[in-house]
Amino acid sequence: MSYIRSQAIVLRVTDYGESDKIVIFFSRNFGKLKAIAKGAKRSKKRFVNKLEFFSLLDITLIPSRLSTLSRVDSAELLNPFPQIRENYHHFTAAMLISELVEQWTRENDADESLFDLLNWSLHALAGTGKISETVIFFQLKMLDILGMGLQLDQCLVCGKTDWRTTSCFFSPTQSGFLCSNCLGPNHFGLTQLSISSVKSMQMARSLPLSRLSRLKISKNNLIELATILKLYCNFQLQREIHSWKHFDLFS
Ligand SMILES: [Zn+2]
Repeated sequence: MSYIRSQAIVLRVTDYGESDKIVIFFSRNFGKLKAIAKGAKRSKKRFVNKLEFFSLLDITLIPSRLSTLSRVDSAELLNPFPQIRENYHHFTAAMLISELVEQWTRENDADESLFDLLNWSLHALAGTGKISETVIFFQLKMLDILGMGLQLDQCLVCGKTDWRTTSCFFSPTQSGFLCSNCLGPNHFGLTQLSISSVKSMQMARSLPLSRLSRLKISKNNLIELATILKLYCNFQLQREIHSWKHFDLFS
């Protein structure tokens, strides 16, 4: 019998039938994986405190020949991130990040950089107290890793590169920004971004994860960046990210 072994983070757990659970993992070696944990609801012993949201585990799965649903054979707990569970703000931030990873990825599509980013984010949410910044940094880095990063350096139409002499408007359909001269007649509803937000975004994208937690972002910039990231993800995914409803930037 072949096994799948990897470090993995639990993105979501749902009850299934009388005694089982369905778990969605994001694993280091195989990307997103969906598996059934037989008896996990009834027998607390085997998976006790392991198949919980955000837990970092070493998992062994047995792939199914008939479907994409593997079976969880064993799970060893590496980090349960208790600090995230103890605080509603931290918890809703981690839920948002998990939902984004689940929605932006396909099953069995390994991406070690994304796993490392997710792992970094959970450590940051458990440690630094910079919750909203972590949520924003995570999204900017994730979009870059997925090749979906926003075109920031110049106006999408005229190529103007100096945002200090013009206003900057976000276009979710074009994955970038327009200057005020290039808005055209159908610009109503486009979100304007301040120069300081553009700079914050550029800084966040260029800094390595090890230095990111030192970057400070003002409240106004956090609001602006959250607004455009929400618009962009909703547009690209063609669905709403539900966890945004529960996550408050400044709670
Ligand atoms: Zn322009």
